Amino acid sequence: MNDCVFCKIRDGVIPSEKVYEDETMFIIKDIDPKAERHYLMIPKRHFKLLSEMTEKDTEDLGRCLKKIPELSSLLGLEGGYRLVINQGDDAGQTVFHLHVHIMCGQSLDFPDLRRSK
Ligand code: AMP
Ligand code: ZN
Repeated sequence: MNDCVFCKIRDGVIPSEKVYEDETMFIIKDIDPKAERHYLMIPKRHFKLLSEMTEKDTEDLGRCLKKIPELSSLLGLEGGYRLVINQGDDAGQTVFHLHVHIMCGQSLDFPDLRRSK
């Protein structure tokens, strides 16, 4: 059985605050927001990593990314926004269905990328 939380949200088994949906992806509010507004853009086809993408997944993800600025007023992206895709353990990926974090609605500090000693 597929116990992926995002597949379950896609299939309506788990509730979510869905703000947009089309044939390739859906966008929900993150349950634990890390910015004033924090959405997750989730391709409908399940895969974990960029390295696992089929041609179809690649095409879908390109289409999904292109769609984001078109949803500017719906999502409130006018002031700018940040996209994050966590990949694997070191990045802290916790849900193994590829998703794009969309953070906006505030001035976002640039993360300190220096390695901690
Ligand atoms: P990541 O750490 O990149 O895998 O991000 C997973 C994100 O999914 C986290 O920001 C969680 O807060 C979010 N999340 C987990 N479960 C749910 C859920 N049921 N509804 C909405 N967001 C969720
Ligand atoms: Zn999934």
